[in-house]
Amino acid sequence: MKKFYQLPPLPYSFKDLEPIISEEQLRIHYEKHHQAYVNGANAILEKLDKGREGNEDLDIKALLKELSFNIGGHLLHSLYWYNLTPPSKAKEIPDGVIKEKLDKEFGSFERFKKEFIKAAQTTEGSGWACLTYCKQTDRPIIMQVEKHNTNVYPMFRILLVCDVFEHAYYLDYKNDRAKYLENFFKIINWEAVNKRLAEILE
Ligand code: MN
Repeated sequence: MKKFYQLPPLPYSFKDLEPIISEEQLRIHYEKHHQAYVNGANAILEKLDKGREGNEDLDIKALLKELSFNIGGHLLHSLYWYNLTPPSKAKEIPDGVIKEKLDKEFGSFERFKKEFIKAAQTTEGSGWACLTYCKQTDRPIIMQVEKHNTNVYPMFRILLVCDVFEHAYYLDYKNDRAKYLENFFKIINWEAVNKRLAEILE
């Protein structure tokens, strides 16, 4: 039996990120937008499966492009939900190994935050700001992703993501991406980021 993608459970309830992200905003984002990427990826997998069964000629280039967009959307959203936490539990400044790596690379947490926000703010159209880690250089490196799959550093593991598609913030912040980004930093789950880093460093 072949497997398909599934919407992962949220690690908190729809109200838990308020007032930073409203229940309505989170519900639409998760139930409609993330679900659409899961459905989109699965539909392409089904098309590929059926085409292979019937030995049909498929437009592989177009299908793979769409598959990459949808798998990227699904995986990035899965990371996004897990790197957020209710404001009452969030630390505004990380500790542990991630703090050491960020201080060494950027000079200070404030400088990292400034560069990360700038990357997120200037992502053209829709996309993501991600913090990644490069094992070859032992550097945390910011990755600005357009859509779900452009400008990706191959093999770099992602530690933290911020969704800057308008659907992530429009209900709560309208077109004010900067305000959403400033508030995003109040709900980062740094413990989850440290855990991902520890897995990479093992
Ligand atoms: Mn999104």
